[in-house]
Parts: sequence; C-alpha cells; structure tokens
Amino acid sequence: MVAAALLLLAPSAFGFELTGWMYAPEQLPIDFYMTDYLEDSLPQEIDPETERYYQENVAIKMFCNWHWTPYCDEALPSRWVTDYQYEDANCAIFDYEYQGVNPGNEGENPSDGMVKFYWDDPKDAHASGVNAVTISRADYTNYVKRVGATKIYGVVPGNDIVFNNDIDWGTTEEIESGCSGDVRGVEATGTHEVGHLLGMAHSCEQDDSCSSNALQNATMYWSGGPCATDRNSINDDDVSGITALYGPFVRFNIITENEDSTAVSGKAPLEVCFELEAEDDTLDEITGVEWAFGDGETSTELEPCHTFETQGQFTINATFSGVSDSCGDWAHTQRELGIVLVCGEPVPGFELLPVSGLTYQTLNQTVVDTYGCVDGLTWEVFKGGSASGEPLFSYNSWSPKFVFEEEGEYTVRLTAVGPGGESSVENVIEINKTRSCSTSSGTSAGFGAGILALAGLLLRRRR
Ligand SMILES: [Zn+2]
Repeated sequence: MVAAALLLLAPSAFGFELTGWMYAPEQLPIDFYMTDYLEDSLPQEIDPETERYYQENVAIKMFCNWHWTPYCDEALPSRWVTDYQYEDANCAIFDYEYQGVNPGNEGENPSDGMVKFYWDDPKDAHASGVNAVTISRADYTNYVKRVGATKIYGVVPGNDIVFNNDIDWGTTEEIESGCSGDVRGVEATGTHEVGHLLGMAHSCEQDDSCSSNALQNATMYWSGGPCATDRNSINDDDVSGITALYGPFVRFNIITENEDSTAVSGKAPLEVCFELEAEDDTLDEITGVEWAFGDGETSTELEPCHTFETQGQFTINATFSGVSDSCGDWAHTQRELGIVLVCGEPVPGFELLPVSGLTYQTLNQTVVDTYGCVDGLTWEVFKGGSASGEPLFSYNSWSPKFVFEEEGEYTVRLTAVGPGGESSVENVIEINKTRSCSTSSGTSAGFGAGILALAGLLLRRRR
C-alpha cells in the first residue's frame, strides 16, 4: 500500500516541469543584452576574435547549449565551437541574438522590455546562497499552447537573468584545468537560468524524492555543485522539456468526462480511450505510436481504446515517432504512472474487540490490496439485531473505537465505497461489560480473539 502511494506521487517519465510560459513564435528571436558590470571573478579582457568580453560570449553560449543555430557558429569564438559544442535540442526551434551591452545595472531590474544578463545583483536578492535567478514576466492572458494538462502562456518581453556577485565564478576553461574550493561554473549556472528564461522549471525540487538519474543529472535539477561543468550540457530530460515547448511534441490524454482530470478510475472491466494532443503540423508528422497499457496488452493504433479486465493500477507507455521537415526523425516516450485505476467491488470486513467496560475497538479487515479501490468507509451502529432505522452513531474513519451506553444486542454495518462500487457487511454483536478474562460470549470469532487480547492487556497492568 505504501509503495502504491509513493507511485502516485512520483513524477511521470517526463521529469521536466514547465513554468507555464514560453516565447511565442512572434516573440522570436529573443534579443538579449548585458549590463556593463563585468563581475570581478571573471575575465576582464576583450576576446580579440569576437571583440567581446568573455561574459558576453558565455551568455551567447548559454543559449547555444539549448539549441545550436547557425548564429552560434558565427558569434562564438571559433575555439569554443570546436571544443565545446554539446548535443543540443535540435528539434526545439527558437532563435536568439545578442544585442550588446546596455547599461543600467543600478537599483532595480526594471521591466524595461529587454532581456538582460546582470553580473551584479542590484537588489542583493541572493544573500542566501542562490547562485543566480531568472526574473520572468509571464503574460497570463496571452495563451500560446498547451502541453498535456499544462497551459502555456506567452511572456512579457523583458525577462532578466541575475547572477550573484558574491559567488566566486569560474569559466569552463578554468574549471576544467583544475578547480578547488567553492568555485561555481558560470556556464553551467547560466545554461540552467536560460532554461528558466525559455520556460523550463526544475526537473526535481529540493524536497522531491528525485529517484531517477536522468532527473538528477538534468541541467534543470534544482541545484549544482562547485567546480562542476556537467550541466553546461543539457540531458535527455532537458531535451524532452524544451522540445515540448518549441518542437514537434505529442502527448496522449485519457478521454474522461472530468476535464480537469488526467487519470481515470472505474469498475472492471473498464474501457479507456486515448487521444493524442499536438499541434496540427505535428499530428501530420507522426509515423507511429507504440502503446503499452501496463496489463501486458499493446497497440499500434494512433488513438486506441483498451479494456482493462482485472483490478489494478496501470502505467501507460506510449512511444511516438515522426519525421519533421525541421529536424528529421524524432521520437519520444511518454509514461504516465498509475493513471488507470481499475477496481472490483470493495470487500469490507471487520471484527470488534472489547477494550474495557463498554468500549470496543474495531479491527478493520476490508481488502485494500489495490491502492485507491476503497476511498470511502462508513461505520454505522444500530440497536438490536438488524440494521434498521436511524443508526445510534456512525463514523468515517478507518478503525474507530465504539463506546456503547448499555449492554445488549447491536448490529454494526461497515460500508466500503470505491471506483468499483459500494458494498456492505453487517455483524450482529452481543455487547457485554468486560468483567473477567474468562468471559467468552459473542457472535463472531473475532470476539473471542478480542477477549484474549484484553487478557494480555490486563496482565500487563497487574505487573
Ligand atoms: Zn533554477
């Protein structure tokens, strides 16, 4: 049960999270600037080849690490192009262009409509060990696209990336030639921040149980260590995320009556139908889908319906492949953990154990082998040998304690509700004041067991 609960909370195979904004096509290319403070832990000389400062070149490189365009070959120092070009998200299509130094480092990060890299922290917002922040301004009225259940909005032009000037920054070359202490890689940090600027959130947050290496090694992981350059280069999870925003990307959804729900549950046998979601061009590019429904059955239909015959919680995998004019063959897999819950009718059961006097403890034996198949419980206690009339009292907890006012015959009804339906069980029980260890009366096997438990309790008290 615990394992199932954890599964429900675990992220899907798309570890990436989206911030909810992206640059709309009409907002491209992203023109970005740098303020005129150079940060004294970084080089202060102009690179003769590009006639730019290192800080300017590395800012360009931070964008190029996400999506390498012909602009990168032209703009960057040629030694970087040969030595430092990593694998990029070649299906994510967005453009950017460095526009030069723009002063205005003091005081605020104004919403001036310009994307700027600040090497100083005007507001000193970084005191608590944060390396850099991206200040983003999303326009939540400007709806751009939808990725799965996430609505994506356009940005208000003028997102800024602000580096903490209290950090000892190192260039990639410096770190690779030997690094110690608390030197932070400016390229890795900045590549992460550009991810935020483009619309990526973290693959895992600090408090997440981030179990997958792909998520921990992502450039968008929430933190990075000193002397590290590994996050200069984006990994598969980052590629999936940025491609979801800017490339051909397909998702499946379960067709449900509840618009807000991405999961479905019901009584076995349960038929579930799937639909694909993508931009029109992308839907035309799909060449194949391979489905695995988690119960051993598969399909290659584009939008299949599948009947789940047995109780269980099922994880759906779909691998999409296609051919795009812009980037050739593409493929990705979507895996949704436990989003189909199929249940039989609940099987409630219980015993009642005397505690002392007229106090009895319920022992709930309702079958809960599939997490979520029992999502509601009602205990009702009636006077007499049948469950008729108004109950004397009722509870909704898993295993409540009953305190009877007088001895006599009672009927206890336990009703369990879940996606598979509702069912009840009733026991007629003779309630007697517990007087001694040898007292044994009752209408269920559980009653006798309860007396034994009580005997243990009394013995312990006497010691
Ligand atoms: Zn971050």
